[in-house]
Formats: sequence, C-alpha cells, structure tokens
Amino acid sequence: MTKEAKEKREIPKEVIERVEKLRKEIEYHNYRYYVLDSPVISDAEYDALMRELKKLEEMYPELITPDSPTQRVGFKPAEGFKEVAHAEPMLSLDDAMNEEEVIEFDKRIKRFLGLSEEENIEYTVEPKIDGLAVELVYENGSLVVGATRGDGYVGEDITNNLKTIHTIPLRLRKFAEDAPNVPLRIDVRGEVYMTKDEFKRLNEERIHKGELPFANPRNAAAGSLRQLDPAITAKRKLDIFCYGIGRVEGHNFKTQWEILQTFPKWGLKVNPYVKLVKNIKEAISYHHYIERIRETLPYEIDGIVIKVNDLSLWEKLGTKARSPRYALAYKFQPTQVTTQLLDVVFQVGRTGAVTPVAVLKPVHIGGVVVERATLHNEDFIKNLDIKIGDWVLVQRAGEVIPEIVMPIKERRTGQEKEIIFPTQCPICGTKLVKKPGEAIWRCPNKACYAQAVRKLLHFASRNAMNIDGLGEKVARDLVDKGLVQNVADLYYLKWEDFMKLPGFAYKKAKNLHEAIQKSKKTTLARFIYALGIRHVGEAMAQMLAEKFKSLEKLMNASLTDLLSIPGIGYEVAKSIVEFFKNEENRKMIQRMLSAGITFVEEEKKEEKPKILEGLTFVFTGALKSMTRDEAKRKVIELGGKVTDSVSKNVKYVVVGENPGSKYQKALQLGIKIINEDEFLKLIGEG
Ligand code: NAD
Repeated sequence: MTKEAKEKREIPKEVIERVEKLRKEIEYHNYRYYVLDSPVISDAEYDALMRELKKLEEMYPELITPDSPTQRVGFKPAEGFKEVAHAEPMLSLDDAMNEEEVIEFDKRIKRFLGLSEEENIEYTVEPKIDGLAVELVYENGSLVVGATRGDGYVGEDITNNLKTIHTIPLRLRKFAEDAPNVPLRIDVRGEVYMTKDEFKRLNEERIHKGELPFANPRNAAAGSLRQLDPAITAKRKLDIFCYGIGRVEGHNFKTQWEILQTFPKWGLKVNPYVKLVKNIKEAISYHHYIERIRETLPYEIDGIVIKVNDLSLWEKLGTKARSPRYALAYKFQPTQVTTQLLDVVFQVGRTGAVTPVAVLKPVHIGGVVVERATLHNEDFIKNLDIKIGDWVLVQRAGEVIPEIVMPIKERRTGQEKEIIFPTQCPICGTKLVKKPGEAIWRCPNKACYAQAVRKLLHFASRNAMNIDGLGEKVARDLVDKGLVQNVADLYYLKWEDFMKLPGFAYKKAKNLHEAIQKSKKTTLARFIYALGIRHVGEAMAQMLAEKFKSLEKLMNASLTDLLSIPGIGYEVAKSIVEFFKNEENRKMIQRMLSAGITFVEEEKKEEKPKILEGLTFVFTGALKSMTRDEAKRKVIELGGKVTDSVSKNVKYVVVGENPGSKYQKALQLGIKIINEDEFLKLIGEG
C-alpha cells in the first residue's frame, strides 16, 4: 500500500480507542515504575501492553505521535531533583524473546549494511544487569556529574548519591601500564544494581517495619539511588557495572570490546562475563550459557545485551526514536507475574510447622503453570496486609518454590477478605503453639497425621534412607491404613502388609518390602539426617557423624559437648539434645536398631599424591570441563593452595573464558599464566 493510500484509509474506531487506552495505561505504569519505583503490574504484563501498542502502530503508522510511549524512553525527571541534559541521548533497547527474533535482528543489520547473509558480524555480548542506567561525566578524570537516564534526554542529578557507591571512582587513573591516557571528557554509562543478598536484607527490614517491600532488586536499586537525601542511599549497598559511553573528547574508541577492555584500566568496573563473539550463532550460545549460570550470580540479570562491535557501523546503522539499531536485549523468560489470590490453605509439615499456602488463579511463569505459592508465615501475611481476592505479585526463580512477593493494593475493589489464621491444627485439631520469638505456629501433636506423612517422606527420601518406591501417595496410604505410626514401624511390615495399599499387587509389594530391607544398611550420617531433627540438615548430620562416630555417643551428648563443636550454635545443640531426650524418640530408634539397622563406613576417598604441595593457584574466568569450585577442590586434594588475590606468592594463574581483572594483574606482575588444558595436564588429567 502506498503512503497516500495508507493516509486516506479509514482507521477502525476500536483501533483508535484501543491505542488511546494502551497509551494511557502504559503512561501510568511508566510513572509508577520510573518515578515511584513501585510498579503495579509485572514487567511481563507491561511488555505485553507495549508489544500490542507497537503492533497496532506498525499496522497503522499514521497513528504514531511523537509522544507515544513507543517513541520515548523512561520518564521525565521527578520533582525535587536538579535536571541534567545528556550530551548524547541515553536510549532504551529493542528486545527479543526468542532465537528467531535474534536471527532477524542480525539479518536486518546485514540488509541495512548491504552485506550478504553468509557474512559474519562481530558482536559483544554482555549480561543485561537488572538495575538502573546512570551516566557518569568525567572531566579531566574527575567525576563532575552523575545522572539517571530520565526521559533519555534529561536525567536527574544524583551526583552525591552516586558518590556513596564505593566502586564508582571519583577520579579515573591509569591503573595498567598499557592503559591509554584518561580522556579530557568522557560520559560513562553503566547500570547501578543491588545484590540479591542486600535486596533480601532490605526487604526483610521493610516488611518488619510494616512497609511494603520492593518488587525486585531493580526497583530497590532505583528507589535507593533516586533519593533526595544521599544518606539514605549510603545505607543501602549498591554497586555498578559500566558498559558504554556517551560523549567522549580526547580519545577515539573503535570498538565496543575496546571500551569494555579499557574501562577497568581506568578503574571502572566491568562485568566479568562480557565477551566478544564472531557471529550471531555464538551470541545465542552465550545466551544459553548465561541463562544456565544466572541463578549462581549474586545479582539479578534479565537477559543479555548483544551489540555490534565495530563502532563505525553504529554510525551507519543509526538509532530509532527509542532505541539504537546496533544493539538488542535478548531477554530471559520472566520470573514474576501478577495473578489473583483465590484462597489460602494451611499445610502441616514434618516438624508440625503450619505454613499458609496461597491458592492462585493459575498463571504461567517462565513456561510453568503456577497454582500454589508459599505465604511463609502469619507475620508475613499481617505485615504485608495480604487479603483473599487480592492481586498479588508472584515470583518463581529457578527451582525455588513459588512465593508471593506482595499484594498490589492499588488493584483492590473492596471485596477482599481477611485471611484467618487457624488456632487449631487443620489436620488433627490440636491447639497450635508458637514459641516466643518465633514466627511459626506449630502443631504440638507428635501423632498428627500430617506430621507422620511428612516425617515418613523425609525418612525415605533419596539423601536420607533412600527407599525406592516410597513417595507421597504411598506415605499417605501407609499412615491412613494405620500401618505406620512412626518410621520404625516400616521395618516390622511384611511384604503381605503392602498388599493392603491401593494399587499394590504382588510385585509392587515385594519391591517396596525389599527396598525397605535394603535401606537397613546405611551410613551413620544418613541415619542422623533421616531422623528429621529440627535444624539438622545433611551437612550438619555429616558433621555430627564425623565427630561422634557412634549413634550412642551422639544420643548421650550434653549441651556442652555439642556447643564445643565449631559450627554448632545454641539452637541446633538444644534441638539435638531435646530430640534424644524424648523417650518416644529413643524407643523408636531402639526399635529400628533391633530391626537390624547397621551402619557401614562411608566409602573412603583414596588419598591423592600431594603433587601440588607448596604451589598456590588463582583462577579467573569460566572453565569448560569443570566449575571453578571443582578445580579449586582438585588443587586442594593434591596438596596445593588456592587464593583469590594475585600476588608474587602465586605460582599459577589459571585463565578460563572471560577472565577478570586478575588476568591483568598477573600480566603486570609477570606471574605464570596457564590455560585450562595446561592446568589439566598439571593435575594429571590432561
Ligand atoms: P530495558 O531495561 O529493557 O533495556 C535497556 C536498559 O538495559 C538500558 O537502559 C540499561 O539500563 C540496561 N542495561 C543493563 N545492562 C546493559 C548492558 N550491558 N548494556 C546496555 N544496557 C544495559 O529497557 P528500559 O527502557 O530501561 O525499561 C523497559 C523495561 O522496563 C520494560 O521492558 C519493562 O520490563 C520494564 N518496565 C516495567 C514497568 C512495569 O510497570 N512493570 C513499567 C515500565 C517499564
């Protein structure tokens, strides 16, 4: 269709109305997000609104206005802040959610540059840090102004707040011999972020004070940085990764990779995972790699950023109203969504703890349907004032149980209902108790059905007694039929008894009986863990087994004996002593021993020759054949030492992919640098 034809055509009224509505909604969410740092919908829902608007504007370009949210970045500076005009606009990024969109981005660039599809474009790939974009203006090496992105053209002056972040240098200097001179002026761009640990601490503090928590570390970082009082910012631990430039005078960067390599030499912190790749295929592999290690990073990332490496191509490709053509955010699946809280049920755990569980209107999070989420405990519900019927922000990260982050009170209708916490065990009706200083209500009835089922499941679990075929359903049925009251009963059941369970025939009954008999031969550590003593997890059980070497000694240990062991605190010691003092528990253990439970020695690992004795290693960058922790363990097993700082005492610096500043330091100090293959040869695995 020609331009004139498009202009003349009639645009359906509903389209005009929908576009108007979307713009209004997006503007409101922009205000909540960028000005108040307190969004009321998840990023995924916001992105969906934005995508819909973009699509309608693509279909009807005549509807595009310069003030449409698709044409603008962020939001204008909030009141109270001095304004700072950016010498070069600070734009947003186009995003892609799947491989096809990334490949299309690469094709589009090639078309634009007149290249064939077979030619390769070099890209830098960087983790997309989920924080707040800032600009740091350095003149003659000194930090003179620091600002937020604002609406891309004018940001908020937050210089004094930024100065409270220790990793932002107040002066740029030449820290490496091959560092170029610090330019006369340079506008450095980076992302200020809050670590996951600091975010957790801050939110716990806020919930405790009865304040609403921040929805995610990004909002927490923004809320902490955009403070009129820098003393508040100083109290929150913030950090920065620098990744780009605005106006530069007195230095001519040729590539993005050069920028990323030069920054640390001037004292600017760059993310250690940045990488240069030869083509778009490698960028996609990098996305997979970063997604795999995402959970292990101490800060949140929401994708990767792919940038054309050659800056001269940036000029040719240019920018659109809101984003450059030379870069793309390839996002991960979202981890947060909003949905409605339909009901709350109360679950009784192995130790009798009563946990409120949210029943949710089913919702997709990162490809999984979530229907339930934990609400932690009564205080959590009270402090956040959560009600049935509320819209809530739900989070599911990695393998972690989905949890409610907070209610969205702005979406209340008045129909919401209070959550009434039970005073009696929902299973056996016993009055619940709560110890002073604890947040958790417990059912004190040791014979409570729910506890018996949970205890049995824990006992049979893989890392405890490892009984094959004893899952949730079987555990319930065993307790239901009165076959098992406590775990010791398991060892007195005959195979015929299992035939009473629903769905059990000869073979299944025989197998389960055999699995139970097999579990009698176990290690002391597994048995201690299987008992399900409060505060005694796998590692603690292992330590107790190593220290006491016999069950009898552990059962008779006093509080003082336990407290004298490093790593055991008062709570744990008390819980162990109480468990073994309990007559019923002693009887249960005795019955199990009489049934033939025996402890075998844990397989001893063969002693390795100390071939690395006297040698100290430093590791930097990612290894291919093992994790850095595994490599470090190998060095220690072979008698060597591992340290994190490069000094003259270090014999080898092992360099993997994307090495950090330790690599530079090793070069400066002339310390022997070896790669992964050489390291493997050294430890005899090459
Ligand atoms: P964006 O976050 O999708 O991407 C651009 C930003 O990425 C840059 O400005 C920069 O801050 C950051 N970034 C991190 N690492 C980087 C790196 N290595 N190189 C370059 N940039 C890097 O875009 P945006 O414009 O900041 O925000 C839009 C997003 O914010 C939306 O997609 C949405 O998810 C969210 N949002 C949510 C709401 C809501 O109500 N929930 C409202 C507004 C915006």
